[in-house]
Amino acid sequence: MAINWTEAQIEEVVASVIRSLKPERAESCDSWSAESYGGRRLIGVFADMNEAIEAASRGYKAVRAMTLEEREKVIANIRTLCREEAPKMAALGVAETKMGRVDHKTAKHILVADKTPGTADIRSEAKTGDFGLTLTEMAPFGVVGSITPSTNPSETVICNSIGMIAAGNGVVFNPHPNAIATSNYAVDLVNRASAMAGGPEVLVASVVKPTLETADVMYKHPNIRLLVCTGGPGVVKSVLSSGKKAIGAGAGNPPVIVDDTADVKKAGKDIIDGCSFDNNLPCIAEKEVFAFDSIADELIGAMEENGAYRISRALADKLAEIVLVDKKNPKTGVTSKIVNRDCVGRDARVILEKVGIHVGDNVRCIICETDFEHPFVQHELMMPILPIVRVKNIDEAIELAVKAEHGCRHTAHMHSKNIDNLTRFARAVETTIFVKNAPSYAGIGFGGEGHTTFTIAGPTGEGLTSAKSFTRQRRCVMSESFRII
Ligand code: NAD
Repeated sequence: MAINWTEAQIEEVVASVIRSLKPERAESCDSWSAESYGGRRLIGVFADMNEAIEAASRGYKAVRAMTLEEREKVIANIRTLCREEAPKMAALGVAETKMGRVDHKTAKHILVADKTPGTADIRSEAKTGDFGLTLTEMAPFGVVGSITPSTNPSETVICNSIGMIAAGNGVVFNPHPNAIATSNYAVDLVNRASAMAGGPEVLVASVVKPTLETADVMYKHPNIRLLVCTGGPGVVKSVLSSGKKAIGAGAGNPPVIVDDTADVKKAGKDIIDGCSFDNNLPCIAEKEVFAFDSIADELIGAMEENGAYRISRALADKLAEIVLVDKKNPKTGVTSKIVNRDCVGRDARVILEKVGIHVGDNVRCIICETDFEHPFVQHELMMPILPIVRVKNIDEAIELAVKAEHGCRHTAHMHSKNIDNLTRFARAVETTIFVKNAPSYAGIGFGGEGHTTFTIAGPTGEGLTSAKSFTRQRRCVMSESFRII
């Protein structure tokens, strides 16, 4: 499970990505759809959600019949295929969604392969005393219905599959419609891994055309015992209103504070590394910075040295009119700003072209100084644009950063060597993830300790989900026996 992101490995990943982009791969990448890849039908993908649930139910029965060793064999094969096919899935994800970066998506898949916990995550508990032995075991729910996002599509399908199968569940997916080919490719990969280990041909299932209606079938089907939703506020709310046990992994708007004790040069580099990772698609990525006035100029300089392109306030206002658009709520008639899907996850270079600025691929991120009320601070943009707000002191920094997080309690970051300041912000912001003095991705195990996940369940409290999050407790009591001391 250990992962060492040495330079040699990173070079190998980059080399494999370049190999994956050779013309023959690009051609086969052309022939993808929600149900086939390169002319081969994807396994486990059904026209109808009810059929998919029936198939996942058979998959669940097969998992129940497996020994732990057999489950681990399936998971080991998923890890191997995920590592081998990471560049292919990364290229497909970018081609289909037009979002993100192939090299970073490749790294995300390798992270999932290496650091998603398997069956070892499931631990039983024994309590002994005068009355004998009580055993608590972590049992599967049954068939899990999983709703997955467009931002980390195949990563989430594979990460969820490893954890849910390790816990002994079956899984049916309702993937994001904009990433259906990529998500279903990952469903097929899990099923190929199962067959390689002697498991069922269809272990996990999905549909050709996921919609809100197919999600509703999932919510209501008696075989679905647990719903897991990774996505924005709308879909998380709908899952939590389903009347079923649900795990909700929702939106965030992670603030970063940089105080006057920070290693400012390192902070500038770390923030740009984190903010520009996969073009800011990860929900944990830095979204707005609150910098002490005394170090703000040095911080901005360090960011510029590390691939940030600074724009003026006037240009930031012009860009805000492009990357955010008006949407009228048909029920209430109220118009509000939402992100322009044509800009989400795009390269900084492409976004700058929209305001007539032409730069090279060395520009990883757009930065600008704004005030707190600016839409770049208030909205979860999911694109490489980073507003910087100057603050006088730690009181103002914490007050504004907590407000900008909007109570999502998702993720926050801080660069400081003052343990009192660090502790105060961590206590005030109450986020599931709090990263100190590192890029945001350290919070999901990439250059930081701990397991990885792409389903971070703040609203329902499971935190960084893993196999044990997808289990239910069962107790077995042996009265007046089996205490051997
Ligand atoms: P999204 O909210 O647009 O869609 C997520 C999924 O929900 C898709 O399958 C979509 O078809 C479906 N969906 C949308 N509305 C629905 C409804 N009312 N009923 C049923 N299904 C519905 O998500 P996205 O744009 O792909 O992802 C971005 C959002 O997800 C961001 O807000 C991001 O922060 C969040 N996210 C959170 C995590 C986490 O772990 N907490 C991880 C990834 C993404």
